[in-house]
Amino acid sequence: MRFDVLTLFPDFFKSPLESGLLAKALSKKIAEIFLTNPREFATDKHRRVDDEPYGGGVGMVLKPEPIFAAMESVPMVGRREVIYLTPQGERMQQGMFRDLAENFDQLVLLCGHYEGVDERVMSLVSREVSLGDFVLTGGEIPALTLINGVVRLLPGTVGKADSLKYESFENGLLDYPHYTRPPVFRGLKVPDVLLSGNHGEIERWRYQQQLERTRLRRPDLLDG
Ligand code: SAM
Repeated sequence: MRFDVLTLFPDFFKSPLESGLLAKALSKKIAEIFLTNPREFATDKHRRVDDEPYGGGVGMVLKPEPIFAAMESVPMVGRREVIYLTPQGERMQQGMFRDLAENFDQLVLLCGHYEGVDERVMSLVSREVSLGDFVLTGGEIPALTLINGVVRLLPGTVGKADSLKYESFENGLLDYPHYTRPPVFRGLKVPDVLLSGNHGEIERWRYQQQLERTRLRRPDLLDG
């Protein structure tokens, strides 16, 4: 999977892409990430990428020319989606990540700043995606969230494919609670059933826990 990120702050991506499973997936070429800075495509001598809004009002708007030029510099690879990160988009969720991981070869992610981008840029965009109902200063954190969530689902990123199967949201339920050694820590005990060695009982207990947690914390998941 190829990711192209259009961002005014490419340095923002350095450390997250050099850490943990994401770094591993990149080194194994499961995913490739290319960063393109629209500022490099600004043609005036000050390399301006923003300007005042027509009609007046507060804040600055990202100009269309550098974004169009940056977008046109990105090679096209197979099935591709051009995504603008915006609080006005469809909210990220696991099903969206699965769809992107399974059905696309290239994701182009456009990060906005200031008041956002000139609306004409939307003619380049095939999908608008939001991290949630709040406003951040830029699209970089949402873009990194999407990259992380999608790359995690690509074959080979997570060691055992099975460990994806029982995660929260995969079967419409939250995950069950996890425990590891020691069996008693500061008086807090691991549930007996997990020490019983009875795999049928353990599976039943875990499923019950998933149902109970989902009912208490996210009843909306059970409604769907
Ligand atoms: N004026 C815009 C609005 O009210 O819809 C918000 C602009 S925001 C300050 C600047 C940029 O941050 C946006 O263009 C977008 O790329 C990004 N951004 C902010 N919040 C976001 C969110 N919840 N999800 C995705 N992107 C977000």
